[in-house]
Amino acid sequence: MLKIAIQKSGRLFEDSIKLLKECGIEISNGNKQLKTVADNFPLEIYFLRDDDIPQYVYDGVADIGIVGENVLLEKNKDISLVYRLGFGKCRLSIAVPKSFKYKASTDLSGLKIATSYPAILKKYLKKQKVDAEIHEISGSVEIAPGIGLADAICDLVSSGSTLFTNNLKEAEVILKSEAVLTANKNLSAENKVLLEKLLLRINAVKTAKNNKYIILNAPNRQLKNIESILPGMKSPTVTPLATEGWSSVQSVVNENDFWEVIEKLKQSEAEGILVLPIEKMIV
Ligand code: ATP
Ligand code: ZN
Repeated sequence: MLKIAIQKSGRLFEDSIKLLKECGIEISNGNKQLKTVADNFPLEIYFLRDDDIPQYVYDGVADIGIVGENVLLEKNKDISLVYRLGFGKCRLSIAVPKSFKYKASTDLSGLKIATSYPAILKKYLKKQKVDAEIHEISGSVEIAPGIGLADAICDLVSSGSTLFTNNLKEAEVILKSEAVLTANKNLSAENKVLLEKLLLRINAVKTAKNNKYIILNAPNRQLKNIESILPGMKSPTVTPLATEGWSSVQSVVNENDFWEVIEKLKQSEAEGILVLPIEKMIV
């Protein structure tokens, strides 16, 4: 049985559960309990505070965990980062009062910076050779300058609206973060196999999200052209249409190249282009 720790409630909870669902793992019990067992995969789910997850994974109470990279780096335990999950994106930034004329990190010298991320901040300041005072607080960091507790803050930002309403501005991004899958370094042989199975599924879900299935009609004289535009997984599937001289072409397109590919297809006389989402993709 593989044991996974996920956030009990908060910003990562829903996406963590959604990911497990998309991997075909059914969880009938909610997060009311401390732990539950999946119905159709040998997986036990622990619901914990995100800050505790690295320690639990390190101790082997949980084998793997889903946590923000920011928490993983702050706690600095000897555990592995196995997979970047692409949700819970945010940045850890230093922010200063709007009126502060900030130019470079050296402007932070001598200031008092409030943060819940003292380890990451300390490392950053050391690297920048800036001598500032770190004031650790556990929550509501953004109000610290307003109440005279600190001159600046180092906190998580996504849209920046919280900073704005607290009369602060982002001065320096010190970490770009997203949710990651982390694992204990001494998994049993059995659990290593289970983790590989889970990773195959996660990868299939993530790859599918980055790709689209495309179906189109094209005149046969353009097929060579279209095959070079749409390489597909091996090569596109080409089947003749009832209309003489025409074929149906099916392939897979990466989200990043999508519009460029569509333009080229149009230039190659492709018609009736259909684009469909892919649920799972195993390459
Ligand atoms: P817990 O009760 O588990 O300790 P928390 O209050 O520490 O929860 P949340 O605010 O739920 O944590 O954030 C969890 C994670 O979500 C963060 O560590 C970070 O990786 C990610 N995240 C994404 N966007 C943001 C944001 N705008 N502010 C804070 N965290 C964010
Ligand atoms: Zn937390």
